[in-house]
Amino acid sequence: MLQSKLFPRTQKEAPKDEVSANARLLIRAGFIDKLMAGVYTYLPLGFRVLKKIENIIREEMEKAGGVEILMPSLQPKENWEKTGRWETYDSLFKFVSYYSKTELALGPTHEEIISPLAGKFNLSYKNLPFYLFQIQNKFRDEKRAKSGIMRGREFIMKDLYSFHAGENDLDDYYEKMKACYKNIFDKAGIGEKTYLTFASGGSFSKYSHEFQTITDAGEDIIYLCEKCGVAINSEIFQPATLTSDVNVAGCPECGSKNLVEKKAIEVGNIFKLKTKYSEPFGLKFTDENGEEKDVIMGCYGIGLGRLLGTIAEINHDDKGIIWPESVAPFAVHLLVLGGLTAKCGEIYENLQKRGIEVLYDDREDASPGEKFADADLIGIPYRAVVSEKTLAQGKVEIKNRKTGEIKLVNEKELLKAVTSSDD
Ligand code: ATP
Ligand code: MG
Repeated sequence: MLQSKLFPRTQKEAPKDEVSANARLLIRAGFIDKLMAGVYTYLPLGFRVLKKIENIIREEMEKAGGVEILMPSLQPKENWEKTGRWETYDSLFKFVSYYSKTELALGPTHEEIISPLAGKFNLSYKNLPFYLFQIQNKFRDEKRAKSGIMRGREFIMKDLYSFHAGENDLDDYYEKMKACYKNIFDKAGIGEKTYLTFASGGSFSKYSHEFQTITDAGEDIIYLCEKCGVAINSEIFQPATLTSDVNVAGCPECGSKNLVEKKAIEVGNIFKLKTKYSEPFGLKFTDENGEEKDVIMGCYGIGLGRLLGTIAEINHDDKGIIWPESVAPFAVHLLVLGGLTAKCGEIYENLQKRGIEVLYDDREDASPGEKFADADLIGIPYRAVVSEKTLAQGKVEIKNRKTGEIKLVNEKELLKAVTSSDD
């Protein structure tokens, strides 16, 4: 893609009311635009990263047997009344239809939709288990919307719901999802800082599990057992000797009391719902003996924008973002200096022919200094510079954004460098 055609250009300043580093950088570098608190547009660069994240997630969901659907955002009040959440779900956006005068909600999650949907099909034990997921916009009237795209009022979530004949089958799938989530966060480049975290299981399960990424920009406090590599959310942590079923005093794996307090952001959450939603909607199946039983459910969420923001938050320096190769908007940022557009255009085309994603800074009105600063701000893994100096040696200068390493290479070596995934 030609940078001269990229909408919009980078900006020197971030909005004053934007406090988190990821949002400031993402706005300045032209990945997102803020419409109002908690509501963002994904601009071309941000959209490319979002699609890469989406593909990583979709691939893992499909590997785990998930089948993709798309449910509506507009939801009827009756469904929310059935579960009692019309009154109790604090961040539910509610409104009245002007014409029909019916009360509606904008979906913050989809248990109230998917449970009655599954209940329409006269399920037998032969139909179970099955797993449905979607990647879709959610709406929550969040009180705090200070963390940029990490806490939106409108945001994109992947939500998968699993349906089982028994609790053992749910338990097995839940473990599979833990592994699946680990793969996703590893692939997205935040694996090293992301920990499986014990959290409240609500009234139906002892625990749920969150995936918490350690960052000062996080809104949660977790207690990390460095030995086991698992953590406990402060919501259920009980530092005193008092223990109940729900509160934990030490590491749930090894019992150690030697835990480290950290700030973290929840990037994903898995939850055993059991019959919490199947009961109110009468979601049942017929077992081998012809008896009707409640379907057992699980749900598994990941916020895509929150994940994108988290990746930027933990991968940046004072010059800009440092994208992991797996989610970078482009593989190479090609910069031409001093009007050598013909030769550079040739390199651009050769890279593209080989299927390499290139952002080509072909701008004639930008100085070398501006081009370098923008390249660091945007954070594409490799910067390739073509100038009179490099061309005199028949070479291109490549710089690794993460390590800062600079090399002079020929075109063939350039290709090799940017296709190797040593991230
Ligand atoms: P939090 O405690 O941070 O509000 P939550 O417990 O409400 O999160 P879930 O309802 O489990 O979150 O949603 C599943 C996932 O969706 C979360 O793990 C997170 O990645 C994402 N998510 C939740 N709320 C938001 C939001 N307001 N903006 C962006 N992503 C969100
Ligand atoms: Mg929430």
